[in-house]
Parts: sequence; structure tokens; C-alpha cells
Amino acid sequence: SKAKLFDQNTEVKTSFKDVAGLEGAKEEVQEIVDFLKNPEKYTSLGGKIPKGALLVGPPGTGKTLLAKAVAGEAKVPFFSLSGSDFVEMFVGVGASRVRDLFKQAKEKSPAIIFIDEIDAIGRARGKANFSGSNDERENTLNQLLTEMDGFGTNTNVIVLAATNRADVLDKALMRAGRFDRQIFVDLPDVRERKEIFEVHLKPLKKAKDLNTDFLSKQTPGFSGADIANVCNEAALIAARKGKKHVEKQDFLDAVDRIVGGLEKKNKIIT
Ligand code: ATP
Repeated sequence: SKAKLFDQNTEVKTSFKDVAGLEGAKEEVQEIVDFLKNPEKYTSLGGKIPKGALLVGPPGTGKTLLAKAVAGEAKVPFFSLSGSDFVEMFVGVGASRVRDLFKQAKEKSPAIIFIDEIDAIGRARGKANFSGSNDERENTLNQLLTEMDGFGTNTNVIVLAATNRADVLDKALMRAGRFDRQIFVDLPDVRERKEIFEVHLKPLKKAKDLNTDFLSKQTPGFSGADIANVCNEAALIAARKGKKHVEKQDFLDAVDRIVGGLEKKNKIIT
């Protein structure tokens, strides 16, 4: 079967309201929304709009969500692909896939291109990894650099890329005119966890006395993705017990289950 080249979403519904916490990062990407909506304003004095920004932070902290929200807020199409997909690519496909992606985004411009797990393509050249052909990966990376350098000043496509390993990236990616901005997306603190709980509790039928201060204090070290997971798991636990509402104890059971899962995952990795 033919692998899908990339995802394309022309009507993104995600907005900044869906992204809890991350105030600093949201402020930084607001500027990108403005560039997309009103490019002439920014280029009027001869300045060049940035071509790319790197979203850097641990897994599950909302990098993909934030990139999607940029497209949603600017009302532009969202083109995305994941660097890890290249691990399973046939020889020669990576570079042409990147070429097609940029071609389509330019046709639909203004647009956002999002590359998740860019480290799978963008690690420093000359360092092999276990995922097979290094030449193939380098060709893909070179094509990406070529595409970004080839953007005219009025292309109005902005490339956002996400990584949790900025340290392994090829320095060529960070050069001026490429991913020359870094936006940090960190694990949430207790106040941000409360906000994330509020977003993910909204669709649930929950007990009236549920306290998000309490829940946020019970979940140190949890990412936004972990919290979304807790909320969903709690709703399933409560439903299995035939309850009418999701209660505090269901959340505690869900937290236990997810902490157990995280511990197991860490054991396998280390
Ligand atoms: P990865 O590095 O694993 O790809 P990521 O940083 O891109 O992770 P997302 O895929 O954006 O993380 O997050 C996964 C899900 O977790 C989101 O779809 C959302 O439901 C929830 N989530 C994560 N962060 C937040 C947040 N700040 N506010 C609300 N929901 C969040």
C-alpha cells in the first residue's frame, strides 16, 4: 500500500483557548499568527518574516497542539508530517515527500507546515543511528534545508518543527533564515496543571465537588497529555462501575494507573 505523504487540514478548529498554560509560548507564537494574517504590515519597512521556529520541550507538553492552534488562529491550512515516519520510508521517498509537502503548502499559502519529531530527520549529519540508511536521512534533511532557503520573501509559509532533543539537531537547521527561533514548551507547574484539568474536565459528567486544586497537586511531573489521559481514564473507570458522575476517587485511581504506566515505560527505556 502507498504510504500517505503528509496530512493536510484546511479547516483547523483548534484555537489558543484549547491550549492551557504555556503563556510565554503562546505569546511568542501570537507573533507568527500576526505574520501570517498581515504579512505586508511586517515587510513594509524591508524586514523579512521568519521562515521557521522550533518548538522545544518534553513529550506531551502541547507542541503539536500549539502549532495547530497557530493555524487555527490565523485561519490558514495546516500541513504536517512526522520525522519518525521516515524511519519506515523506502529509499528515495523522503526527499521527494518533503518537496511535495512544500509545493502544496506554497500553493495554498499562507500556510503552516508542522514537522513533528524533527530530530528523526534533523540529527547532526555524519552520525549514524540505528534506524537504517543514513544517506536517506541526510538526503531528506538536505531537501528540507533547500526548500527553506528557496522560499522567497513573499512565500508566507511558516515552518514549525517540534523536538525534545534540540541538542542532537544539525546546527545547519538553526542557521539564520531557517529555524532561527526557539520556543520552549515546558512541563506544566501546579497552576498550569489546574488549567489543563479545566480544559479536559469540560466534556465530562463530573461530581459537583470535584476540586481542580486538589487534582493538580496530585499530579506533579505530569504533562498535558498525561492529564488528558487521567481525565479520560477516570471517566472510563466511573462508567465501568456504573456511576452517574466521575468522582474524586476515579481520578485518584486513574492517576495511580497512569503513574504505574509511566514507571513501567521508564524501566524499559533505562
Ligand atoms: P510529543 O512530543 O509527544 O509529540 P506534544 O508536545 O506534541 O507531544 P501534544 O501532542 O500537543 O504534545 O499533546 C497531546 C495531547 O495532550 C493534546 O492533544 C491535548 O489533549 C493534551 N495537552 C497537552 N498539552 C496541553 C495543554 N497545554 N493544554 C491542553 N491540553 C494539552
